[in-house]
Amino acid sequence: MFTKNGGHGMRWYSPWLYLWASPATLLGLSVVPIVWWQSGSIALVQGVIEIHGGIVTRCLHRGLPWAGPAAAMTLGHVVWGCDRASLERTRAHERVHVRQYERWGPLFIPLYLSWSLWLEWQGRDPYRDNPFEVEAYDEAP
Ligand SMILES: [Zn+2]
Repeated sequence: MFTKNGGHGMRWYSPWLYLWASPATLLGLSVVPIVWWQSGSIALVQGVIEIHGGIVTRCLHRGLPWAGPAAAMTLGHVVWGCDRASLERTRAHERVHVRQYERWGPLFIPLYLSWSLWLEWQGRDPYRDNPFEVEAYDEAP
């Protein structure tokens, strides 16, 4: 099935890519019952589930120890955002991460974290020097 992907022409949505990225997607979806109960927002945007509000916003405000608070975060085919504006502002960047999950599948999270640890150990920036972030910032600053 071909689906239109805003501004980027036609894109092949393969069920295999969704399956390959599904461990991270399930992690991203684990908050759905809580967000639902907290009246947050869950929306399907160009083949990606975007979630904001409630526990998701609280988690992002706290952020990751080495990256600090985040406006948005991608887990497979799920993107968590602080609010609707954050999701819109970071969409192009987070979509690069979605494609990285489609490439690396269940390896993405271990690889991403390993790079961050290695960079930290090397005295470099574990977030901005991470090759996954370098690629994402290259395409969508
Ligand atoms: Zn990023």
